[in-house]
Amino acid sequence: MNVQTLPPEKGNFNLKDYEKTAQNFDWTEVEKEFSWFETGKVNLAHEAIDRFADQPEKKNQVALYYSDANRDEQYTFEEMKKLSNQAANTMKDAGITKGDRVFIFMPRSPELYFAIFGAIKIGAIVGPLFEAFMEGAVRDRLEDSDAKAIVTTPTLLERVPVDDLPQLDTVFVMGEDVKEEGPYYDFKSRLDKASDTFEVEWVDREDGLILHYTSGSTGKPKGVLHVHNAMIQHYQTAKWVLDLQEGDVYWCTADPGWVTGTSYGIFGPWLTGTTNVVRGGRFSPQDWYETLERFKVTVWYSAPTAFRMLMSAGDEVVKNYDLSNLRHILSVGEPLNPEVVMWGEKVFNLRIHDTWWMTETGAMMICNYPSMAIKAGSMGKPIPGVKAAIVDDQGNELPPHRMGNLAIDKGWPSMMRTIWNNEEKFNSYFELDGWYVSGDSAYMDDEGYFWFQGRIDDVIMTAGERVGPFEVESKLLEHPAVTEAGVIGKPDPVRGEIIKAFVSLRDGEEVTEELKEDIRTFVKKGLSAHAAPRELEFRDKLPKTRSGKIMRRVLKAWELDLPTGDLSTMDD
Ligand code: ATP
Ligand code: MG
Repeated sequence: MNVQTLPPEKGNFNLKDYEKTAQNFDWTEVEKEFSWFETGKVNLAHEAIDRFADQPEKKNQVALYYSDANRDEQYTFEEMKKLSNQAANTMKDAGITKGDRVFIFMPRSPELYFAIFGAIKIGAIVGPLFEAFMEGAVRDRLEDSDAKAIVTTPTLLERVPVDDLPQLDTVFVMGEDVKEEGPYYDFKSRLDKASDTFEVEWVDREDGLILHYTSGSTGKPKGVLHVHNAMIQHYQTAKWVLDLQEGDVYWCTADPGWVTGTSYGIFGPWLTGTTNVVRGGRFSPQDWYETLERFKVTVWYSAPTAFRMLMSAGDEVVKNYDLSNLRHILSVGEPLNPEVVMWGEKVFNLRIHDTWWMTETGAMMICNYPSMAIKAGSMGKPIPGVKAAIVDDQGNELPPHRMGNLAIDKGWPSMMRTIWNNEEKFNSYFELDGWYVSGDSAYMDDEGYFWFQGRIDDVIMTAGERVGPFEVESKLLEHPAVTEAGVIGKPDPVRGEIIKAFVSLRDGEEVTEELKEDIRTFVKKGLSAHAAPRELEFRDKLPKTRSGKIMRRVLKAWELDLPTGDLSTMDD
């Protein structure tokens, strides 16, 4: 395979020498960065907000730029402290205490962030829910976690089956003139009236912080519990990988309903005292470029699906905007196709840094760094302090270039502490000889770069060859007519499986036999004969999660006429 290598960037980075740091790194060193190292008093909200609000030189710095179609606001660290204190008092007055699960179910708004920090300040466990969830999805998660409280809006309240959830005795409604009776509280007016001072509830580093349900790409979402100790890794990866520095303006495009939107939309940036941009509303290329320009964003964290959509909007659009402040771009959530990396080079004159991690890992694990060469299509190398390996099904480490289970030596700071209500599932991640087994398939090259191949269950066995769907999808994307591709294995009596590709075409492209043949030949020549899809099917859209991941299990179910399973996280 032809690997395109992009040389290291020039500049003053937080992580200057990867190899050296990776050899000697000790996580306990990071503890010194937090005020609890001296005081012994732990709470992530204090470290992310109050600590800076109490520093004369930081308190007036903008912590949050919030904008959507109707609102355009900014809040300093000092204001964030007061407002989250008001949220904490509001919740405390309603009887919420340490360890209670408090769900946040509302569209992005400043209040969403105050509510999250308010809940953390009283020691509650936050359960973020994506605003597009329908009743079934909301019910499943509240039931599974025995939620005690929820913060929501009048519109979304219609999807919260309050009467069927006996544990859910506190419902904060964020609207106008909310009638207070039974479990219902008027969140906004209580917030406005509440005291803006609050004595933070100090917790143990191992106390619950956040309960995140996974994206549901491969099956029913799992409730992943993270603890305050995770801040160590949020902070350090925000330094090394996001490369956040004094004066940066940072924008993470992920919704807080997903782990990227909390670990790196909230915790990472604020633990490092960075100005954070939040843009509400739906995606449009113009809107996104405008956001980058208007806030003079310097560091931008997004996802392959978004980059692909920007790419298909055409290179002319981006030329209308002044993006000269941008210096660092990152991606997560799905494999980052080499095609997209090369497009980033072209239009932004910057490298897009792929990062690999999962809800379960809580923070970044395998990444590309400014100071390191990028091999387009590789997710990079493990962060210092983390050991990753490719292991076989018995847990033996495999040599370079052998495809196998992507596994991590357990015990990194932000590792999940359990799967809520499902200890058995939790234990199943650690069955191979103490390794944490990710469920992803990958290989490592001679230089220690990791290459994602697909979900273990998605790897295709065709005529005795193992083919990772990602490689085929990436090759398909290089074809000028193709904008998106999802590849599955389809059972075949002769070959075991054959490769079937679902493809969406650029606007204006017509499906013809020639085009089909051309696409097949393109993959055959660019990759290999056995990797070329025997079957091609064209679709206007591919099934995706709301966080933008292609749902191959749904493609497979459609193809084989099987039940599609839990679709709560599927985009409409
Ligand atoms: P579920 O576990 O519910 O099926 P999910 O695995 O998509 O959903 P997440 O925790 O949001 O839920 O996503 C983690 C997965 O996303 C990883 O296991 C991996 O398959 C994929 N992923 C994340 N980042 C990358 C990346 N940089 N390259 C390739 N794949 C990635
Ligand atoms: Mg997963």
